Amino acid sequence: MELALVYTLKCNARCRHCGFNCSPTANSKIDIKKAEGYIRKAADIDEVKRIVFTGGEPLLYHEEICRLIAYTTKLGMTSRIVTNAFWAKSKAVAKDIVKELTDSGLTNINFSADMFHQEYVNCKNVENAIEASHEFGLVPVIARCVTNKSHGKDEFLTLYGLAPNSVIDVKDIPVGEMSYMGNRDFKIREKYRSKVLVRESNMIPRGRALQIRHYCREEAFGEIFDEACTEVIQKPGIFPNGNLYACCCSGEPVEMLNVGNLEETSLETLFHRMHENSVFWFLSQYGPYRLARLLEKRQMIRNPKRASSVCEICLDTLDAWDGHDFQLLLEDHFAMEILEGLSEPVLRPKSSS
Ligand code: SF4
Ligand code: SF4
Repeated sequence: MELALVYTLKCNARCRHCGFNCSPTANSKIDIKKAEGYIRKAADIDEVKRIVFTGGEPLLYHEEICRLIAYTTKLGMTSRIVTNAFWAKSKAVAKDIVKELTDSGLTNINFSADMFHQEYVNCKNVENAIEASHEFGLVPVIARCVTNKSHGKDEFLTLYGLAPNSVIDVKDIPVGEMSYMGNRDFKIREKYRSKVLVRESNMIPRGRALQIRHYCREEAFGEIFDEACTEVIQKPGIFPNGNLYACCCSGEPVEMLNVGNLEETSLETLFHRMHENSVFWFLSQYGPYRLARLLEKRQMIRNPKRASSVCEICLDTLDAWDGHDFQLLLEDHFAMEILEGLSEPVLRPKSSS
């Protein structure tokens, strides 16, 4: 699993879809000493294999981030950074910065690039940063937010100077290979050498994206969303206020996902609490759609009509419900499953979970 440090909410950009409301005037940031402490504690937890530096724009503090990556590497974990590539203003600068990052031990790099980021960061920057990543042996991933106003795929590739045969959709990569990518597993890295992986996801109407909700690509609420969440518990995140959330999804986290605060409780205890939480367990086994359906049947939430993604269903459901009597709800449903016949269970874990 990986632990994200949402290092800062400050960003050079103020994207219209930003779920965390990041901007140049947002000042919250994790203190570097505290970050070192979190990383040290994370290294003592066997299951944490990777530290992710995200934000906001973490490379606004690039010296601190290089120091933290080096510390992460020294403690035997790999590292990933999520950036918008604002710093890659020329090929030479991009090369210098990626060299510094990889010399510190960085193993994975993600670039956020789409119609919204483009309003603040020149597409050429992303192109420079990708070229530099390839030069230093990284397999870059582009995270692209898609709306009903987005460019078509070909136009997107042209804008970012990407040759179609160099691009692979993350959905086409076996799950095992994706999670080992960058784990100093050179066989897998070699296989994707010089490729660019693209991960598309629909815009989630949270944070500033609420104001452009009509841009959302929505589907009728139905089985298309019936999938377990692979992020909850597996990709928790620490925010600048010290809160640990059970996932680091791309929208303002909701209180139900808040595990606790690191000013008051140790990381180890919060991890234990996270693993014991039955709502998180349910989301990881059955997913938000099933949770919404259970609550809807009990008239504990209103029936959603349309949604952009499982994360929207999840965040709206958790926001609308106080988590009360979850145990009863589960017992009720497992009892129903038995009564309705074991051949056709009401709830069934997903094979991918
Ligand atoms: S979406 Fe990313 S690049 Fe844009 S304002 Fe938010 S953190 Fe910054
Ligand atoms: S489905 Fe819910 S728990 Fe999973 S990543 Fe999305 S918001 Fe987080």
